[in-house]
Amino acid sequence: MQHLLGLTTKELQEFVQGLGQPAYRGKQIATWIYQRHAQTFEAMTDLSKELRGKLTSAATVGYPTVAHKDVAPDETIKYLFDLPGGQRVESVYLPYSERVSVCLSSQVGCAAGCTFCATAQGGFGRNLTAGEIVGQLLFMQGESARRISHAVYMGMGEPLWNYENVVKSLSLLHNEVGMSLRNLTISTVGVVPGILALAEEDLPITLAVSLHAPNDDLRAELIPTARKWKLDEILAACQQYAMKTGRNLTFEYLMIGGVNDSPEHAQELAKVLKAKKLPGNVNLIPFNYVETKEGFRRPERESVAKFREVLEKAGRTTTQRMTRGNAISAACGQLRRTIELKPRALNIAENG
Ligand code: SAH
Repeated sequence: MQHLLGLTTKELQEFVQGLGQPAYRGKQIATWIYQRHAQTFEAMTDLSKELRGKLTSAATVGYPTVAHKDVAPDETIKYLFDLPGGQRVESVYLPYSERVSVCLSSQVGCAAGCTFCATAQGGFGRNLTAGEIVGQLLFMQGESARRISHAVYMGMGEPLWNYENVVKSLSLLHNEVGMSLRNLTISTVGVVPGILALAEEDLPITLAVSLHAPNDDLRAELIPTARKWKLDEILAACQQYAMKTGRNLTFEYLMIGGVNDSPEHAQELAKVLKAKKLPGNVNLIPFNYVETKEGFRRPERESVAKFREVLEKAGRTTTQRMTRGNAISAACGQLRRTIELKPRALNIAENG
């Protein structure tokens, strides 16, 4: 059955015309779906009963349904969504004092196989459609009193391995939902052809690249698929991206205690970024404990501070990701695993 969530206003107009309706009905439906978060045709009260009946037999809105939801004391909300077809993905609602952001999944599972990541443990399922990506945000918006202004594609999956649907979802979020492209961030493990393709799109989004290591050997230990693209090629693609779009990039650096968190690693990172004349901030992400590779642990607070200091001294701006929603397993892929492995074991803080 046709899912209407995921169609543009123009596509919705064509769809209703196919049902013998005037085009403006398509615009009304678009408003209901993207602005008013209607989950059913029944809720679209300015459409005639007859048309609502017709729509119900011809299509579905295509909203995800919630399999599980957990609210942390800091008001972070983690959602586990059921998709049509039975798969599940996670999304996170992140209210800050000055803005509300959400973290979206782009694939069911992931093929990157990162050794520190809970999503990787389950392997790859399938790509999400543009509608399924946008649906996560719309669902959360429907439950939120505050407007969601920011979205990061940092949930399950590798966005640039689902390129077309991800790009379509960005344009839906911009053109239909009304979000600013600058507030949308795609995070990639470093898919070079995807970065180069994105540089050619006229989309002033923010690109974040997960580096996690300053050299290829260490990077390959953390990100097995990284062997495919050398750091040098990834950074060259980033350079191209920065040049074409005029946008600064963000470099994500997941810090794992005793693995990649020494001052020498920081020094080496500053050096490789400088050598490529790459502007952009380094976002340090302290490892959230998940049962993946043995021996991986959260870095000491002092190591993070020292790492930052070395980068800043070398002229690199840094930010540190606030850990939110720890009590609800908010790191990527954790909730689905927790639910699937031990259904009642939520609300246990996994790292003190
Ligand atoms: N595939 C994309 C987006 C998904 S991962 C990418 O790799 O960028 C989004 C972010 O979550 C990445 O920066 C990743 O390093 C981080 N992440 C994954 N597992 C984590 C964990 N256990 N603790 C902290 N951050 C984690």
